[in-house]
Amino acid sequence: MEYDAERLKNFWDSIPHEKIEEANRRSRDEHQRQVKAFRDGYANDTCYLCGKNFSTLSKSNPCLHWLLRRCKFKKKDFSKVYNKYGYVNIAAYLRWCANEERPLANINDLKSEQKEGKIISYTIKWKNIEWTFDCSKNDFSGHKGLSIDYPHYHFQMRIDGRQFINFNDFHIPFNDHDLFVLNSSIEHGDIFGHDFGSAGAGMEDAMNFPLDDILEFSGSSSQEEESLYHLSTMIEASGELISGDEIEDIRAEAARTGKTFTYVAKQRLGERASVRTVITPSDSIPDIASRTEHKRR
Ligand SMILES: [Zn+2]
Ligand SMILES: [Zn+2]
Repeated sequence: MEYDAERLKNFWDSIPHEKIEEANRRSRDEHQRQVKAFRDGYANDTCYLCGKNFSTLSKSNPCLHWLLRRCKFKKKDFSKVYNKYGYVNIAAYLRWCANEERPLANINDLKSEQKEGKIISYTIKWKNIEWTFDCSKNDFSGHKGLSIDYPHYHFQMRIDGRQFINFNDFHIPFNDHDLFVLNSSIEHGDIFGHDFGSAGAGMEDAMNFPLDDILEFSGSSSQEEESLYHLSTMIEASGELISGDEIEDIRAEAARTGKTFTYVAKQRLGERASVRTVITPSDSIPDIASRTEHKRR
């Protein structure tokens, strides 16, 4: 399928702004409805798509909950799943599951940690499982001259750290809906908001939250394991010295109130010092599993 950037752009430009907003609102409502159904099911180990328990595998009805591997799902069954559900649906489902266990921090989709030239590259952690989606520009345009000349992505699944599905096992075709979504987001960036809605958000979104919210609400430094962020704080006193006791008081108040050290320091020291913070993602998020692309023969 040849992708025509110019035609897609003209298509978007031809739609009145209100129409786009209306469509966005409807898709947000639909998203909310689905997320609610998903959550209600998830709380009872039940899949909202097929209505079955996560431990059930009905061969005649392939379903996304198979990938949670609470049933007797085998690698050879994977094609049944991706022939029925496109990338966008598979990814959304797995992201929602991950966020039920630990919001945002289970999804490492940080742009800063992705290798160059990737269309898609991120890892999702859920209980003892890690899924990684990977699509390079070569995959997206199809491997020319090979039988895999269609747009596709690669998928890795590890259980307890061991390979269950390897990147090179499958060249998974994008369906038309996937291509539409991906091409639109490549063309138009943020116009559709976040790709997977708030229920599917990951660390890239977390790093883009407003700075003041991060400082106030991301917990005291003693909870680093649970926190999404690593904060390193520098305090420069303006003119007067700040005593060790006062620093200790700030630390204690942060621990007591669950606010960050930086937030309390800013409040208490006010004009007496400048408090600067460098925010980086917490070390406790999963690494993005990297795929070695084979050289073309
Ligand atoms: Zn299901
Ligand atoms: Zn490929």
